[in-house]
Amino acid sequence: MHILYLDDEPRMESTLRRLVQRQGHRFEFCTSIKACKTAVAAKVPDLLLLDLGLGQESGLDVIEWLADEQIALPVVFLSGYGDDLLDTAQRIAKARGVEIRGLVSKALLASDLLPLLDPPPVLPPAAQPPERQPGPADASLIRLDAAMLAERIAAGGVEPAFQPIVSLVDGSPCGVEVLARLRLADGSLMNAADFIPLAEATGLITPMTKALLRRVIALKERLRPLELNFLAVNLSRVALERGEVSDLLQPLVTGLKDCCRVTVEVAETTVCHDRRLLQTAAAQIQLLGASLAIDDFGTGYASLRDLAEFPVNTLKIDISFVSEMFVSMKAMTVLLAIIGLGQRLGLKMIAEGVETEAQRDLLFSAGLEFAQGYLFGRPGELAAIERLVAASRLSASAFDAFDVCDLQA
Ligand code: C2E
Ligand code: CA
Ligand code: CA
Repeated sequence: MHILYLDDEPRMESTLRRLVQRQGHRFEFCTSIKACKTAVAAKVPDLLLLDLGLGQESGLDVIEWLADEQIALPVVFLSGYGDDLLDTAQRIAKARGVEIRGLVSKALLASDLLPLLDPPPVLPPAAQPPERQPGPADASLIRLDAAMLAERIAAGGVEPAFQPIVSLVDGSPCGVEVLARLRLADGSLMNAADFIPLAEATGLITPMTKALLRRVIALKERLRPLELNFLAVNLSRVALERGEVSDLLQPLVTGLKDCCRVTVEVAETTVCHDRRLLQTAAAQIQLLGASLAIDDFGTGYASLRDLAEFPVNTLKIDISFVSEMFVSMKAMTVLLAIIGLGQRLGLKMIAEGVETEAQRDLLFSAGLEFAQGYLFGRPGELAAIERLVAASRLSASAFDAFDVCDLQA
């Protein structure tokens, strides 16, 4: 591997050179951006170790240059300024499309740097960017307008997709989240993110939600044998503002009475818009016999007082903390703090967006009980949940049989 190191200060050079060469890599050093550009022009190295503070210049100028020139050169940031700056620099680079292989605090040079000199691991398939739901055409490319959305809702085009929520203790599916999908006239399926904002802006969110929940109730005979602990649905701010919570939820709670408990997910960005709204909604939700989850927790404005005051049952830790937990030290710290907070408040906690086994294992060892994400199952038809439950029961009974044999032996 050919490693280029840019730092205005030669103090670290000899240490780094020794460290890198001992691993069998080729090492080149430069002290200015100009010299760095010349070296890259002569031959693009495999990795750039980039100091963030370069006297009059800054490592961020190098990032701008790499992005402008579209040079595919992975970067490891070095900094003596601490984690905060490394974290921010990484976000800037990511936004510009520059690959950041890692962050190394100069104080922890050897322990942080050496693992990064190995070739990057090949990500498992689940960690690749999410695929869209298959359909005859790419539904995300279709421009939806209010009239088309209203027509689709009226035509029965709103469909539930079910995503499993599993116990991290034994991997068994213990709940599902219902996510809305829109079947377009050409048969393709549109994801929630592509039509919910329009539904909210036009007021069509109310008929959309009613249509969705009707479809879920109609599936109760298939839901019952799954013996799920809970079924979660999303409610938007509009429903809270219009005081529609009871109207929307009552039929669902009644319809699924002997199936599973209903959980209502309200996004945290909604929560503090008007505290009274949440207060009223939270009370109504509990009175109906449903439970309340704060969705996307950590991204919005729910004050800690809200958590203590309102009858909140569950925190769904936002996907951004999980996807960044191994990339940003700050994200990891905040994640662990959220878990500690939730535990102290006695709340059920679900991590969203778990895509890799490494994420799952760390969350479990940090004390988290539940998780959701592509690692366990993508949103899809109820049949996929049925298969998952059947497989989980089969492995549990095999385990029990093994236990009995074990005892008898
Ligand atoms: P959300 O409630 O946070 O739902 C999770 C979103 O993350 C879903 O996108 C889901 O497909 C996606 N997701 C799940 N696991 C993973 C993973 O491992 N990796 C990644 N990258 N993504 C994952 P979707 O279905 O497009 O929904 C987007 C948002 O739309 C939802 O975010 C929710 O806020 C809203 N939404 C969905 N259905 C409804 C609904 O019926 N009513 C309302 N008001 N909002 C809804
Ligand atoms: Ca949700
Ligand atoms: Ca969420």
